[in-house]
Amino acid sequence: MLIITLDTTRPDHLGVYGYDYPTSPEMDEFAKKSFVFDNAFTVISHTSSSHASIFTGLYPKTHGGLNNNWIMNESLVFISEILKEKGYLTAGFPACFVVDHNRNFDQGYDYFSKKYNDPDYGFRRDADYVFEDFQQWWENKSDDAFFAWVHFYDPHRDYNAPKEYSDMFPSRLVTTTDSSDAWDLAGYDGEIAYMDHYVGRILDLIEESGKMNETIVVIVGDHGEGLGNHNYLEHSEYIYREQMMVPLMISIPKFSERIQRIDDNVETIDLMPTLIDILGINTTNKMQGRSLVPVFRDERLPEKFIFGETRVTGKELYSPNRHTRLSISGFGWKYIFNNEISKKKNGTDELFNLDQDPYEEKNLIDSDDPEIIKKKAYLLSKLMIWDKDARPYSQGYDVNAETRKIIEDKKEKNQDYSAEKKEIDAIEKALRDLGYMS
Ligand SMILES: [Zn+2]
Repeated sequence: MLIITLDTTRPDHLGVYGYDYPTSPEMDEFAKKSFVFDNAFTVISHTSSSHASIFTGLYPKTHGGLNNNWIMNESLVFISEILKEKGYLTAGFPACFVVDHNRNFDQGYDYFSKKYNDPDYGFRRDADYVFEDFQQWWENKSDDAFFAWVHFYDPHRDYNAPKEYSDMFPSRLVTTTDSSDAWDLAGYDGEIAYMDHYVGRILDLIEESGKMNETIVVIVGDHGEGLGNHNYLEHSEYIYREQMMVPLMISIPKFSERIQRIDDNVETIDLMPTLIDILGINTTNKMQGRSLVPVFRDERLPEKFIFGETRVTGKELYSPNRHTRLSISGFGWKYIFNNEISKKKNGTDELFNLDQDPYEEKNLIDSDDPEIIKKKAYLLSKLMIWDKDARPYSQGYDVNAETRKIIEDKKEKNQDYSAEKKEIDAIEKALRDLGYMS
């Protein structure tokens, strides 16, 4: 089994997902032999936490690594550990320090690349170096069943792909209203094309060895990139579609006759339960994702809510000094909860009707349509229940705290607070209906 993680790669910049420029000929070819997921989402917009979720099948709050500052707990069970125990030869090739052995990402690996600490390569490694490292391992390994993870970091800022790649694309600058920074999409696309070349070389090695028809290959992104959408260039601070939607393609020899495109909403935490299900491994290990195997048998998955989050800097879960954003999407809607500090930047929570507004541009949170008010309360209560359930800590978080403060303030000033009261009542009713509040 091979898992290739693509850092910072937006699906809409790959040919297989409809991009107009030729960034990904190798992956487009691979996609023809794979299940391609059109609605795959990461659960967090940070590299380290996102990778931990892919490898453990757990939401970030549960595995505990909430952003790139965390060291993963040794008691977590990575897919590499499960497969090593089953006799697989395991090898990992991280391309950036936030997913390296110092962050405990080397759990369960027979070989784990540490070479990028070489001062020549700094904190990240380019695709050619990752490939050479993989090739060396590949050509010297035994013939046992293998599990390998290869990480490509190239599409992450800064852009420095060899000139022949960035020269393939026209220069197009993207920027935001509050910064003088402008990024060139030619640089981003060039990095994707450069990475794609080495993805192809790795697939070639497997093909040439005759092992492709017995190897499961997963290509998945860790998060996207703003590139100017929602007036933001990067990924870690926000959880809009452009940060959360990721490419996901899976080639599975035993289901190769049934390949198709899948439009069900799936989360990256579904990968681990899916892969061990395909391999027929029983585990009592706790996972929060669900197996996608039914879709490989032409069955639809029941629709469910999917969740996302981001937390910026610091280690405390709910420190008032840090951004926290949480999202719930499904059944045509998406709600983003922004904590107090996040609200300073965004003003409010956000509610999007995804059927009418898939790019999340029209915030309906202040709508006075009674149906939308009901929807809002329902989604927020589901989101808070998820947050409470997924959290390994027991401290409560009062979602209505700010509104209660506003009410107290208005009471003192003898102002009308009926709108706020209505909002709290609606949320509490939804919580009661779901049995989470008596
Ligand atoms: Zn990343």
